[in-house]
Amino acid sequence: MINKRYLPPTIVETFLKQLPKGSTVKTIGYSVQKRPISLVSIGNGKTKILLWSQMHGNESTTTKALFDFIPWFLDSSQQAYQKKFTLNIILQLNPDGAAVYTRLNAVSVDLNRDALKMSQPESKALQNVYNRFKPDYCLNLHGQRTLFSAGVMGEPASISLLAPSADINRTLTPARISAMKCIVAIFKGLENDLPNQIGRYDDTFNPNCVGDHFTSLGTPTILFEAGHFPGDYQREATRALILKSFKIFFNTLLVDENLHNVNEYVNIPENSKDFVDLLVKGVNIIDKETLFKSQHLGVRYEEKLINGEICFIPLAVVYGNKIQFKAHRTITLPSALKDIPVIFEVDKSIQIKEFDELFSVIL
Ligand SMILES: [Zn+2]
Repeated sequence: MINKRYLPPTIVETFLKQLPKGSTVKTIGYSVQKRPISLVSIGNGKTKILLWSQMHGNESTTTKALFDFIPWFLDSSQQAYQKKFTLNIILQLNPDGAAVYTRLNAVSVDLNRDALKMSQPESKALQNVYNRFKPDYCLNLHGQRTLFSAGVMGEPASISLLAPSADINRTLTPARISAMKCIVAIFKGLENDLPNQIGRYDDTFNPNCVGDHFTSLGTPTILFEAGHFPGDYQREATRALILKSFKIFFNTLLVDENLHNVNEYVNIPENSKDFVDLLVKGVNIIDKETLFKSQHLGVRYEEKLINGEICFIPLAVVYGNKIQFKAHRTITLPSALKDIPVIFEVDKSIQIKEFDELFSVIL
C-alpha cells in the first residue's frame, strides 16, 4: 500500500495486476524511455469520462486517489455508477518522470505545454485516446506546491480547481459552463472538510495546455490540483479529499449538474502564491557580506528523490524584519543557535548541521 509521495511506474504495474473484475487494461503507447503507458477501462455506461494523472511525474497524489477510487467504483454496491459511466483512466501518463520524480518527461518537455505541438510520444498517446474515445468530460489530474493560498493571504489551497478557457477571451462556452457547474458542486461538497481551503486556478488561455485544448474542442474539462493540507507533506489527507471530490463529481453527473449555479464559480477564491513552508524568527543573516541581526527567514522545501525516498531540502527564499508571507510552520531559533549566521542566497539550500533537525519536515 503506497502512502508516500514517490510513486514510480512499478507501483502502478503492481496495482494494475491486482485489479478486481470488471476492468480492462491495455497499453496505449510507450514513453520516450519505452515504458508502457497503460489505460484502464471501467464501467459500461453511455457517459464517457477520460481521466489522466501524473502527466507531471512528481505529482502523485491524484494517482494515489485513483488507487482508492477504482476499487470503489468497481464494488458491487456502485452499480448505478457502473451503468451510467464508462471511464478511461491513464494512471501515469509520464512514467519516465515518475521514475525519477520530475515534472518533465525524459527529454525535459512539459507535457502540459505540448498539446498543439504533440512532439512527445506521451502527448500522442493521450490525444489518440481522446480522439478514439470521444469523452463527454475530461479530468486533468495534477498536484501543486505548498506555496499556494486560497485567495490573497488566505488559508492553504489544499485543492485547486479550474475550468480552463476555450479561447483568449475566456468565453463561457457550453463546455466551460458545464465544467464550472461541476466545480461549484465539488466546492460546495467539500466546504465542511476544507473551509476556505479550496482555490480557483488562473484561467488565462494557453492553447498548449491540454485542458485548454480539450475545452476548445468542446469537451468540458476540469483541472484538479492536489495541494497542501496543513502538516500533511506525504499528501495522504489530500489524497482522501481528492477521492471525495471524485465521488462528488460523479454523483453530480448522476443526479444533474444543472442543479448548480455557474455564477457561483467566481466566488471560489483565486490561488495566490503567499506561503513559505517555514518561518524562522531570530536568525542572523549574512547577505553579500553584510550582517543583518535577528531577522525573519522564509524557507521552502525542495523535494528530492534520494535512495528511493523523497527528502525535503530547506531552501532560503526571503528574509527581512518582517516577511510578506504566511507560513505553514513558525519557529524561533533557540538561543543556543542564535550566533550561527545563515549566509543568504535566494533558493540555495541551508547547509548548517545544527539547523538540520530544527528545519526538517515533520512527517
Ligand atoms: Zn501538474
